[in-house]
Amino acid sequence: MTMNKAPFYKSIGKEIDVFKHSFTNKIPFLLKGPTGTGKSRFIEFMAHDLEKELITIACHEETSATDLIGRYIIKGAETVGMDGPLTKAVKEGAIIYLDEIAEARPDVIVAIHSLTDHRRELFIDKLGVTVKAHEDFMLVASYNPGYQRGFKELKPSTRQRFVAVSFDYPSNDLEIEIVINETGVEKDIAKKLVNIATKIRNLTELGLTETVSTRLLVDAGKLIQSGLPKRLSAKVAIVEPLTDDAEIIEALTDLCDLMI
Ligand code: ADP
Repeated sequence: MTMNKAPFYKSIGKEIDVFKHSFTNKIPFLLKGPTGTGKSRFIEFMAHDLEKELITIACHEETSATDLIGRYIIKGAETVGMDGPLTKAVKEGAIIYLDEIAEARPDVIVAIHSLTDHRRELFIDKLGVTVKAHEDFMLVASYNPGYQRGFKELKPSTRQRFVAVSFDYPSNDLEIEIVINETGVEKDIAKKLVNIATKIRNLTELGLTETVSTRLLVDAGKLIQSGLPKRLSAKVAIVEPLTDDAEIIEALTDLCDLMI
């Protein structure tokens, strides 16, 4: 049983109920949405709530099925090696969170196939064995649909193996609460940071690949709270991480200076 303090998570819809029902029904869960919208925090919160161990894997272009399943060497009658995080989760009944699953190599999708349907089993091809998933094993994945941005897509046939929930930037009031809770800044400052975010999110003509996330606001709030000047904090935590285009940096810095 986990005795740690529950992670702070501000619910934005019905996602908590949906997750609990997915868990009970043993259906994999997919979080869709841009970076910094609370997906990882939500999973940490749910794992704590359900008192399950959480194993998080940040997937990238080189992430392979072997990384997840494990590396084994067969020496005569003996097998030496180590279970990877997925095998461990399957055996012990943990929640595995494959963050940015669409980035991983295609063999990862193949490897989780039999875990995402009624079979709930993992085939370890290096050993030629099939492992039945523990009662409490749950597969969770996230991806960033990033439609017009050239991000990798998840195949429809893969998506259909999950219950899926979209995450997006929270409403103003919720986002203000999140910033206050995460950083301890005064409400007035949190409001101004959220106003800056809303303004920049609406400037679609800038063509940013990713816009201001709650994470950036939290970072700005932390810098302000520890004593860095407000405008400088906004510039380094919000504007600079967004783009490398000098003109856009200048324009957004001016905008922030007016707003905070
Ligand atoms: P993602 O996994 O979607 O990239 P994270 O879960 O890492 O995003 O969120 C980034 C940060 O934003 C968190 O560390 C937290 O400070 C804050 N945050 C975003 N949404 C929420 C939320 N709904 N409740 C609490 N904190 C949030």
